Amino acid sequence: MKAVKDFDYIVAGAGIFGAIVAQQLAQKGHSILVVEKRDHIAGNIYSYTDKETGIEVHKYGSHIFHTESDEVWDYITKYADFNDYVHTVNTRYEGKLYPMPINLDTVNLLYGTDMGAEEVEKFVANEAAKEKIENPKNFDEKGRSLVGSKLYEAFLKNYTEKQWNTSAKNLSAEILKRIPVRYSHDNRYFMTAKHQGIPKDGYTKMVANILDNDKIEVRTGVDFKDIASKIPADKKIIYCGQVDQLLDYELGVLPYRSLRFEEEKSTNSLGEAVINEASADVPYTRTHDYKYYQIHQPEIVNQKMSYLCREYPADFKKGGEAYYPVNNEESEALYQKYVELAKEKYPNMVLGGRLGAFRYWDMDVAIKNALDLAKTLD
Ligand SMILES: Cc1cc2nc3c(=O)[nH]c(=O)nc-3n(C[C@H](O)[C@H](O)[C@H](O)COP(=O)(O)OP(=O)(O)OC[C@H]3O[C@@H](n4cnc5c(N)ncnc54)[C@H](O)[C@@H]3O)c2cc1C
Repeated sequence: MKAVKDFDYIVAGAGIFGAIVAQQLAQKGHSILVVEKRDHIAGNIYSYTDKETGIEVHKYGSHIFHTESDEVWDYITKYADFNDYVHTVNTRYEGKLYPMPINLDTVNLLYGTDMGAEEVEKFVANEAAKEKIENPKNFDEKGRSLVGSKLYEAFLKNYTEKQWNTSAKNLSAEILKRIPVRYSHDNRYFMTAKHQGIPKDGYTKMVANILDNDKIEVRTGVDFKDIASKIPADKKIIYCGQVDQLLDYELGVLPYRSLRFEEEKSTNSLGEAVINEASADVPYTRTHDYKYYQIHQPEIVNQKMSYLCREYPADFKKGGEAYYPVNNEESEALYQKYVELAKEKYPNMVLGGRLGAFRYWDMDVAIKNALDLAKTLD
């Protein structure tokens, strides 16, 4: 086995970000060792085929590829053939389904009306004005001031409170810039996406294709810390993990929200890939039925069996699965201190990926940022 010191670059993390940086560096002629602490590549976009049903399971929650960028699309389609899946979502509230984001039909269904576009626009504005909230002090007031109490309580309040495990009155008004309301029947979730779809052979195969290069060696089940002592001081490192973990939480723990997934094979198909769960008495926020992503395989979609997954928000504990960073002034200051500390300890390290950057990034943003970073490396 080649020694760690003999590679030009070390990449910690075989998610989409680390894989692309490695691939771009390999294209420039460098040799790269990719270490991944999990026993599989692809990071949080990892998916696998359930043997019994042939359904592609998204192990860390539903992932739908969507982008407005031709550059990102041109890059990623070299490594995967995408189907034509277009994402739509219904929200279940008190037993009924409503299109999400809120559109003409959502409003009419909730109020039992039959209004046209102009009427609905005036109606929602009037509902919002009735609240008489000029300077909303928290998320709850902001939501009511934007669309009125009925829409807010049905589609935002409970969902948000479940996600954050706190009253919406304790959350900042800043989190909620706007609530998109469409005055049409358009129910596409990613309305502005120029390209969207699901890789026909799954996300893991897509990442494996990116990493498939003679100049890249991937070692799974290896934490960066396992090899850190063997890395010469001048070796270049791209680190795609949590910086607080890397530095043994010396300054404290960066805050995240986590998730718990409950999976079940069942004949109770949803009839669609995702339903948001907005009722207060339903403890999970989303139900997924993965087979509906495989529209290129009608035999998979049309079988009786479904692979369901219920997504529960969970508190994040040190060392647990970090899903959504809690970005605020305090956490940003802590993150910046960690960045400085990392520079002192690892002068040749670049922090990358969603964990290294302490940011929520969709896949297309991770891809774009990986391509941009690689351009700066020689
Ligand atoms: C629930 C959920 C749903 C999402 N849905 C969508 C979606 O529908 N569409 C979309 O575009 N985006 C979605 N995303 C975002 C998507 O998951 C990210 O854009 C993507 O995973 C970012 O890739 P990454 O490589 O930056 O990070 P990751 O995928 O997290 O990869 C980082 C890798 O580094 C490894 N690692 C960490 N520390 C170490 C260490 N010390 N040593 C070795 N390895 C280490 C980790 O194990 C991991 O494999 C979703 C995110 C979440 C949380």
